[in-house]
Amino acid sequence: YYNENTIVYYNGSFIKASEARGNVYDQTLHYGYGVFEGIRSYATESGVQIFKAKEHFERMKYSCEVMNIPYPYNNDELVAISYEVLKRNNLENAYLRPLVSCTPNMSLTKAKGSHLLIAAWEWGAYLGETLLRLKTSPFRRITPASFMVAAKVCGHYVNSILATQEAKDNGFDEALLLDMEGFVAEGPGANIFLEQDNILYTPQLGSILPGITRATVLEICNDLGIEAIEKQISPEEFKGADSAFFCGTAAEVIGIESLDSIPFKKNWKDSLGFLIQKAYKDRVLVKKFKQEVVSV
Ligand code: PMP
Repeated sequence: YYNENTIVYYNGSFIKASEARGNVYDQTLHYGYGVFEGIRSYATESGVQIFKAKEHFERMKYSCEVMNIPYPYNNDELVAISYEVLKRNNLENAYLRPLVSCTPNMSLTKAKGSHLLIAAWEWGAYLGETLLRLKTSPFRRITPASFMVAAKVCGHYVNSILATQEAKDNGFDEALLLDMEGFVAEGPGANIFLEQDNILYTPQLGSILPGITRATVLEICNDLGIEAIEKQISPEEFKGADSAFFCGTAAEVIGIESLDSIPFKKNWKDSLGFLIQKAYKDRVLVKKFKQEVVSV
């Protein structure tokens, strides 16, 4: 993620990552009370472009608002600063990590102040390029009865880490988390779609992070005339699907081979997910997706 030359933006200036200092009494360090984003940039024909930068910073602002973390930042400026971080590190295809952490406060009260970090590094496809073998996690996804699930809060990722470890310890590639009612929610770091009879389904908002990639996939479906429905999905329904994929900024669009060792019916290359994956790649590279087959 970094070396001795890495530059980050931290609290108003561009400094060496090795010189960025937190405080051991920072509230975020003790309680996971902070928020972050994950954004990607791409080398496109018209130069480096940060995909949906504004949307990510808007979500970061929302996350801070609902968590009562001071957000004295201007999102247009943060977009400009993000491009500068890329430039100073000679990065084109990169992952950007903005983080708003809280200043010292050992009480369980509202944040007293915030630090802002924007770091960037080269990061390949987060879940790899090969089809994933999923395991239903014994850990349930965080519930709206206890957490602000639509905010991207640091502490929420303890649940993600538990689920990922458990899946990998059992020889699977990734976890699938159910919500507290037992319906399909999302992966530890990505939203999920399934295909059934040429229609895509994805869990409705409520117990999931409203993914920016999920929204892009829905836009692509609209453009390509693919029907996409947001609804509650049971694990049984999921297991009977024709195909499935994860989507997220870091993971992009990645196909799923099986759930709990039960393979999906369609070959990935024949699935709607495969079309979406191609269209997503073109969209982030600001290319127009040429639709070859309309399989609706
Ligand atoms: N769900 C979770 C739990 C995530 O961590 C992510 C990654 N941010 C997503 C979904 C996908 O969100 P996005 O498409 O905005 O990256």
